Amino acid sequence: MTGRTHDLAALTALNLVIITTPLPDFSFSTAIFSIGACTIGGLAPDLDQPTSSLWHKIPAGSLIGKIAHPFLGHHRTLSHSILGIIFFGLLSRYLLNLLGQTILVDMSLAWWAFMIGFVSHLIMDTFTTEGVPWFFPIPFHLGIPPLAALRIKTGGWIERLLVFPGLLAVNFYLIYSFYPIYLQLVKNLWK
Ligand SMILES: [Zn+2]
Repeated sequence: MTGRTHDLAALTALNLVIITTPLPDFSFSTAIFSIGACTIGGLAPDLDQPTSSLWHKIPAGSLIGKIAHPFLGHHRTLSHSILGIIFFGLLSRYLLNLLGQTILVDMSLAWWAFMIGFVSHLIMDTFTTEGVPWFFPIPFHLGIPPLAALRIKTGGWIERLLVFPGLLAVNFYLIYSFYPIYLQLVKNLWK
């Protein structure tokens, strides 16, 4: 999947959690920071690609991406696995706690948002032709449906014309159907 589909899928996953989970009160800065953390989480697994959208978003990122590439392994290995979820989960928790010493944000919520984005990426990639090596280092790529020819090609017309607009529609539907929840969340921000 492309970066923008992963961004949208991460926010869709966050929306699903918002409507199904009772959330504690949080500040406006925590809300904004967590949305950012969620989209970064949604792109983070592709840091193993020097061309990843996330590398383009940081200064000199494409250069850093090329340098980091040999250390992160080939595309879709560690970062696209259960082991990767644990590794990135621990790393992001450590980094967010460090950041939490200087900025006033509820880092535990931000961490959950990051992880929701991260896992949504792996779920979305499972529907693509290449599949996902969930059980890395076991080199078996799991895909849905099992027949690779029936899966979605990254950047192909199905992704552009069906998946992306489909995810947009899901988000509009969720916000429309559950707007009292969102209204309450927004009210709580100004309490
Ligand atoms: Zn990926």
